[in-house]
Amino acid sequence: MNIHEYQAKELLKRYHIPVPEYIVIRHLDELKDVDLEEAVVKIQVHAGGRGKAGGVKFAKSPQEIKDITRRLLGMKMCNNQTGPQGVVANSVILSKPVDIHKEYYLGAIIDRAKKQMILIASTEGGMDIEEVAEKHPEKILTLPISAPGKLRMYQIVAFNKFMGFKGDVAKQATKLVQNLVKAFYELDASILEINPLVLTPGHQLIALDAKFGIDDNALFRHPLIAEMRDPSQYSKAENAAFENDLSYVSLEGNIGCMVNGAGLAMATMDIIQHEGGKPANFLDVGGSATKERIAFGFEMILSDPQVKGILVNIFGGIVSCKMIAEGIIHVVKEHKIKIPIVVRLEGTHVKEGEQLLEDSGLEIIAAVDLLDAAKKIVAQVQEVI
Ligand code: ADP
Ligand code: MG
Repeated sequence: MNIHEYQAKELLKRYHIPVPEYIVIRHLDELKDVDLEEAVVKIQVHAGGRGKAGGVKFAKSPQEIKDITRRLLGMKMCNNQTGPQGVVANSVILSKPVDIHKEYYLGAIIDRAKKQMILIASTEGGMDIEEVAEKHPEKILTLPISAPGKLRMYQIVAFNKFMGFKGDVAKQATKLVQNLVKAFYELDASILEINPLVLTPGHQLIALDAKFGIDDNALFRHPLIAEMRDPSQYSKAENAAFENDLSYVSLEGNIGCMVNGAGLAMATMDIIQHEGGKPANFLDVGGSATKERIAFGFEMILSDPQVKGILVNIFGGIVSCKMIAEGIIHVVKEHKIKIPIVVRLEGTHVKEGEQLLEDSGLEIIAAVDLLDAAKKIVAQVQEVI
């Protein structure tokens, strides 16, 4: 789960990392309590690159603050991080402009390949860190973070040297990086990034931007962070899935996928792609899929108008294929589904399940295995479009 910049800054503040004061504006009438002469106005959306996309503006007078806020509130931002549908800014923050001497990058992430938490630091802040990593890898320092969220002294020395921090700035940087790593670890973050971290002409280090992502599976340990979830930043289907504890990600294709188990769901998407089709979503209805979850899964898939066909791929390990078949028949009848549905069942009570589908009189296409299922749904959808 992601949260907004201002919420991430709230977390940084709790860990004594200096951030500029900010005011959150959700409605224009809230501006009447603002008495700033100048402000940086920033849209709050779950995506970076706002500066380049026109979502960060400098307002040089109270009138400009009003005008710019009016323009940015409700703005839809589209870039490579948002997907083609874009995201809408329902809030903006106002901060006093900070004088910047130099911008740096500081972030902690989980490196899946190395199976490790790592700290990433760079002297090139304020820009796309992926681009820096590609063009100037020598300008990036990565350090492994060991549990329980502590850097070793020699790592901190190396960090300060790499960043060119000396004297009092090095003292501030030491505290800051220790607190960042502590926050990252204690809050079960998947990413905690400050870009840019700035040094002011008065030699103060301040976090001007903040990004925080948390592992959904750890949300139960952080109820205050769970409350920060902003449904406006997710699709309708993603919200429904979150509330019902299903994993759903909408994609750009037209073949809806309903699968139990994340690994099987990924394999299903791969095979569809391999056969020349495009999956419309990733959906894991869970290892213990029930009739209700199947029904709900169908509703989510059908809420996407792009969907031209559905592939159901259920492996009955714990669940009975008979029960799944009953679930499918029920939804197809209830929703009067007209688009092609290919079903591949395997496992417990598979014969009984297949028999039920056959006897139902519905136009459900049975598949013998996953490859057969993928071929059939791709062919069906190509016929429809
Ligand atoms: P994004 O990363 O989404 O583009 P940022 O918050 O990093 O958004 O803002 C983009 C740039 O705007 C920063 O790199 C910084 O140069 C400038 N900026 C942001 N906030 C302030 C501020 N309070 N004072 C001065 N400059 C700012
Ligand atoms: Mg930034």
